[in-house]
Amino acid sequence: MARNPRYDPLFEPMRIGPVVTKNRFYQVPHASGMTNAMPHMRAAFRGVKAEGGWGVVCTGYCSIDPSADDLPLPYGRLWSDEDIRAYVPMVEAVHDHGALAGVELWHGGASVANRYSRTPPLSPSGVPWMSTYPGFMSNQRPRIMDKADIRAFTAWQAEAARRAATAGFDIVYVYAGMSYLPHQFLLKSYNQRSDEYGGKIENRCRLLRELIEATKEAVDGRCAVAVRLSVEELRQEPGSSEATEAHEVFRLLGELPDLWDVKLDSAPADCPSARFSEEGYQEPLIDFVKTVTTKPVVGVGRFTSPDAMLGQIRRGSLDLIGAARPSIADPFLPRKIDEGREDEIRECIGCNICISSWHDGVPIRCTQNPTVGEEWRRGWHPEQVAEKGSDDRILVVGGGPAGLECARALGQRGYGVTLAEAGKETGGRLLFEAALPGLSTWMRVRDHRLARLREMPNVELYLDSRLGAEDILEFGFDHVVLATGSRWTRELYSASETPAPALDHPAIFTPDDLAKGAEIEGPVVVFDFDNYTMGGALAQMLAGRGLPVHLVTPAGNASAWTIMNNELPHVHGRLAELGVGITTLRRVTAFDGERVMLESVFGGQSSALPCRSLVVVGLRRAEDSLYRDLKAHPDRLRDARIRSLTPIGDACAPGAVAHAVYSGHRYARDLDHVAETDLPFRLDAPVAPDPAAGPRDAEIAPLRLRAGGG
Ligand code: ADP
Ligand code: SF4
Repeated sequence: MARNPRYDPLFEPMRIGPVVTKNRFYQVPHASGMTNAMPHMRAAFRGVKAEGGWGVVCTGYCSIDPSADDLPLPYGRLWSDEDIRAYVPMVEAVHDHGALAGVELWHGGASVANRYSRTPPLSPSGVPWMSTYPGFMSNQRPRIMDKADIRAFTAWQAEAARRAATAGFDIVYVYAGMSYLPHQFLLKSYNQRSDEYGGKIENRCRLLRELIEATKEAVDGRCAVAVRLSVEELRQEPGSSEATEAHEVFRLLGELPDLWDVKLDSAPADCPSARFSEEGYQEPLIDFVKTVTTKPVVGVGRFTSPDAMLGQIRRGSLDLIGAARPSIADPFLPRKIDEGREDEIRECIGCNICISSWHDGVPIRCTQNPTVGEEWRRGWHPEQVAEKGSDDRILVVGGGPAGLECARALGQRGYGVTLAEAGKETGGRLLFEAALPGLSTWMRVRDHRLARLREMPNVELYLDSRLGAEDILEFGFDHVVLATGSRWTRELYSASETPAPALDHPAIFTPDDLAKGAEIEGPVVVFDFDNYTMGGALAQMLAGRGLPVHLVTPAGNASAWTIMNNELPHVHGRLAELGVGITTLRRVTAFDGERVMLESVFGGQSSALPCRSLVVVGLRRAEDSLYRDLKAHPDRLRDARIRSLTPIGDACAPGAVAHAVYSGHRYARDLDHVAETDLPFRLDAPVAPDPAAGPRDAEIAPLRLRAGGG
């Protein structure tokens, strides 16, 4: 199909200093969890986005010196010439599809702990980042940089820029955002120096100016130089001659780089989940930038709608549509718009599972796109699958995220698939979860798959069709997939952090009871040891109905896991607004219909809260009775010519929606696939140094590796 001409402005080329991007789709730098030890995974992950039409594809953060060591969080590295090789496969993969490759050179300053390099962190004035989360906490305070340190820092940036140019990058970043080192020099809160690098804004901008100039000199016209700037705190400070200090930065430096990439300050503010932000949420804070510079401006806002993207350009807020999450959820988003297939965009749901992968220190995962991170090691393309290997017919039981994705991917492979769903609608757990406050985007997981299924003549969908073992044996499919989900239990939490027996009382409820419309009375206590979204979202929903609600958890925070997906501060803020009480480090031990008894998880001291309804959000168990019934009779399966019986998704192991989608996808890929090795995937390895010669400019060309190689 042809592109809708309305979207033509999104496909206009744009000059960025010495280079030209073919369109306005710009994958801004974002973490992938793939370090220099995974060069081929990284190349394939970024290369697929270039194939999908992104005009610019950037790396994640790339450390310029051992004094910027973020381990165990995974980062890229250009510390020495030997590191150049690790980036060549990515640059080549991006160039192969006519896109520009950008590299985000980075120094974390006081925000890193340097656990691996064992170097004292650097900072303008010794001001530490007083994080309270163990993953980011450090018990070493930063040291104050002297003038020699500042000169060394500028030299590291220049050296890394030269290496980046040697690797073939087109855009090289100076990163002055998110409280990293150059940003710390800009901010009054971190920079308390009394020399020419501190005090008035002109002085606080001095280092950033020197970094931009040194980078330009190092790349010598071979690459564009971009500055990534966080503007939030700067906008809150009144300027001396301009409205705010953010405006002052642009007065002083606005025309110096070739591109401005603008964003907010902290991870939860810059990258909030959809539960706490709308598409385009950054616009009111960054739209001033284009009025204070003539250079191209890129910014983000979890854009998945081409009309929203167009609006950014039409209103003069942005020149280039920046995306991290939308490019992860659908690497082919630009191509789909270009080909008039915008209905097929797999829209990001804003769940931030991708971000949690980085906090976990592993390669990226995505709820909507199960192929992310698997492009190289499993050879999974986000849009293409192998054709079916036989005429086998497959029955998928259950139309939640796992069953839908399994049926969709099997259908795409050309298999004859029957999907039977007990309910009147598909969606499974999403039918309730997407109705919780702020989670409506989660329904995109179902809607995208259902729309694709409906286009497939080889997939039949039956609603209102609860199947029993006898039905399945009677049908006699070649393969049966059980995607029957899971259920929440009333089980409690023991002092040894294992499940404890449930209490017997009619006013104890699970999320499944609430999903079925159980009427509950206040005061309500939500006892949450699941620690993910459900407990906090239920407390929010019930408080929104006017019930007095108290959330109790054995963890140190409400929804404690959500530190991983940037939601934690927002969860606490929202619960506080709604008057939800929070009691941490306690577990429930008894309930009599009037009071719930609690015990401290450490000291064992007892306390009580008024409670007429207790909602337990704890353990889920697989809904696998159908699987077990069938499996118990191998002879009957054989007679029915059922060759395989497989539980997937929550019916196999309860998890997040991302796990269910992945499980369904993997089943479809693996059916009739003969593994090449005993391992489930290929193992990546660093690009080995050439013993004969260092990879200087003259020698790099013959060393180049294909993205799929090695
Ligand atoms: P997952 O996240 O693994 O996809 P869900 O709980 O979201 O799991 O979805 C499971 C789906 O399976 C639900 O829609 C449920 O109605 C359906 N289901 C469960 N048992 C049967 C059955 N015996 N026959 C048909 N559908 C079933
Ligand atoms: Fe979007 Fe969630 Fe995928 Fe991240 S994991 S890209 S937020 S759908």
